[in-house]
Amino acid sequence: MSSHDEYSSDEEDLFDESQKSDVFLGFVDAPITEEEVPTIEDTFIGGQPIWLHPQSQPNEKSLTCDNCNKKMALLLQAFAPMDGKLYDRVIYIFGCKDTRQCSKKKGSIKAIRGIVKDQETIDKIKKETEALQAKQLDEKLKADNQKKLNIELTKDLFGKKEESSNPFGGGSNPFDNKNDNPFAAGSTSPFGANPFGAKAEEEPKKKPESYAKIASKNEPKKAPKKKTVSDLPSYKGSFVYVDTEKFKKATNDPELEKYKHLIDMDVNKDDDSESVGASRRGSSSVLDPQTSKISNMLDDKYFEAFSNTVKHNPGQVLRYNLGGKPLLYNGKDDVAKKFLSQQPANIPQPAYNPSSERQYELQLMPKAIMDLEEINTNTVQISDILNGMSWGTIIVATDKEDYMPEQEFDENHVAYIEEWCGVQWEESV
Ligand SMILES: [Zn+2]
Repeated sequence: MSSHDEYSSDEEDLFDESQKSDVFLGFVDAPITEEEVPTIEDTFIGGQPIWLHPQSQPNEKSLTCDNCNKKMALLLQAFAPMDGKLYDRVIYIFGCKDTRQCSKKKGSIKAIRGIVKDQETIDKIKKETEALQAKQLDEKLKADNQKKLNIELTKDLFGKKEESSNPFGGGSNPFDNKNDNPFAAGSTSPFGANPFGAKAEEEPKKKPESYAKIASKNEPKKAPKKKTVSDLPSYKGSFVYVDTEKFKKATNDPELEKYKHLIDMDVNKDDDSESVGASRRGSSSVLDPQTSKISNMLDDKYFEAFSNTVKHNPGQVLRYNLGGKPLLYNGKDDVAKKFLSQQPANIPQPAYNPSSERQYELQLMPKAIMDLEEINTNTVQISDILNGMSWGTIIVATDKEDYMPEQEFDENHVAYIEEWCGVQWEESV
């Protein structure tokens, strides 16, 4: 279901305006493409992470699965600036793609908080623009790769005895219309048959110019040599747009009736293949009540609350409510106990700032799995199901003070640190 459908204006009156929520919800928007790449001010799921500076990445370990030591894939990148703070801030969630081996294993999903501290807003805007330009430039360079190869070849053939090492600079340009230009018409080219073919005359004139332009622009940034795009394994990338949580009006809810009916039906289902499918889709079982999973969990009032809340906005992939409470997927596991056993929640304090404590910030919702794995409910295969992710929600809690130790900042004023990440896994079948 498209999230847009949920919020099309003619459906506004379906929502109960009197019920307020402090929660922001994220819904999948357009896919990330080569033409449309996110900036750090975007929130998105899947794809490759955008670092706070092209040369500033978290340490390797934070991007590596503790269980299998493979690089993890980005699940969520959320632009999460703090009010009144003069820096940009991003929350990343990474997960191991080897779900067969690493599902439910400690350290197979991690959360990272990143900060870039700028002195002024102008600096900030400048940096964002540059980061985007560097990426676009990188794409351009890739496209120009073949041209560059030609140029290099030309340099080898004709440039060796030139005074300037730059084959395209000034008077030493071998493509200038000089008498000694081997490509000039009527010249005594040593290559009777021009190795560059018929186009040789026109193309070399254009290419050096555009390449030089690009190169000179690149030089100060030093970006193109070291690719800024990560080479992490990845899921399908989609932009996420954020809106406040709204609740559908409670009166005569035909959906709920349908839902109850299906649950009753499912109680008696005991077919193996069905329950495998159910488990996988059970990750999004709140979307698809035709699962036996739901009936298994109905005795859990937290799961019931989860389902009922999500039902108002089935497209949600993200919930954000800094300092609020998570929407627990179940009330029984270790993650739930941390939030339920005492108030405030018993989240581990940040080791880098022991006098402080952590608070709930955001959680990734199971609908994201369908978008990340491109699951089409009509065509889903059992193999997709078995190989897929199997969590109910991923909860991230961050330092209340948003502290970052000074030594973590690099020369680009960027710092990353791991934050607490609690995964409520799908119950095994
Ligand atoms: Zn792993």
